[in-house]
Amino acid sequence: MLICPVCGETLTLQERVYVCENGHSFDRAKGGYVNLLRTSKPGDSMGDDKFSARSRRDFLNRGYFAPLKDALVERFSDAEGSLLDICCGEGYYTAALAENPKLTVYGFDLSREMVRLAAKRGGGTYFVANMAAIPIESNSMDYATHLFAPFHESEFLRVLKPGGRLITVVPGARHLFGLKALLYDTPYENDEQLPQTASLRLVQKDKVSARITLRTPADIEAVFRMTPYYFHTSDRDRAKLQGVEQLETEIEFILGTYEKGD
Ligand SMILES: [Zn+2]
Repeated sequence: MLICPVCGETLTLQERVYVCENGHSFDRAKGGYVNLLRTSKPGDSMGDDKFSARSRRDFLNRGYFAPLKDALVERFSDAEGSLLDICCGEGYYTAALAENPKLTVYGFDLSREMVRLAAKRGGGTYFVANMAAIPIESNSMDYATHLFAPFHESEFLRVLKPGGRLITVVPGARHLFGLKALLYDTPYENDEQLPQTASLRLVQKDKVSARITLRTPADIEAVFRMTPYYFHTSDRDRAKLQGVEQLETEIEFILGTYEKGD
């Protein structure tokens, strides 16, 4: 299913090296993943850094977002075939989906550190890549999942089989509202807008909601770092988190299921 990022030919794994018929080769790292990113920059400078990757992993391991994981696992409980997790992060959801023995799971992310952690969780074939040029054969995936990441319609369409399905997750209206209410004088609800696409048909929309209590300042900081507004919050608002030991909040996710036509 993997293709060469240089020439597009099929990659095959020989010993510890992925090679294509034109002689391009990509070493499989000790951790079991492969870097298929075509860039002169080292992987660690792209995407999330080590600290935020580990912070995210530790946060997710505490089970705060388990309702979403469980909903995804349930959704794919009867599924079989190939599944690509687009921007898989540190693999929390990917590895859970891969526990279904009827699914062959692939996951990629732009951040090498995220992919390294995902490969540690195991269960799938993990690689570093950019969603603008996914090194996966066209029409090869029965399913794709896509959580909290930018939407790249043409590439998602290309990798799916005819009739294949994409599940996109965006934050629900009340997602982390408890955190926002603490930080901002005028907290806004999310608009729940699923990506608009002409080529993929939206066939189902579901909502997963739960109420959680973040139990430590480190967990509050970790979830804050995972939000898009982390970098857009003023120092004055940020300071409101100081001394907060626990925080109760809603979490809410919208799952959009899209289908590729025949
Ligand atoms: Zn090649």
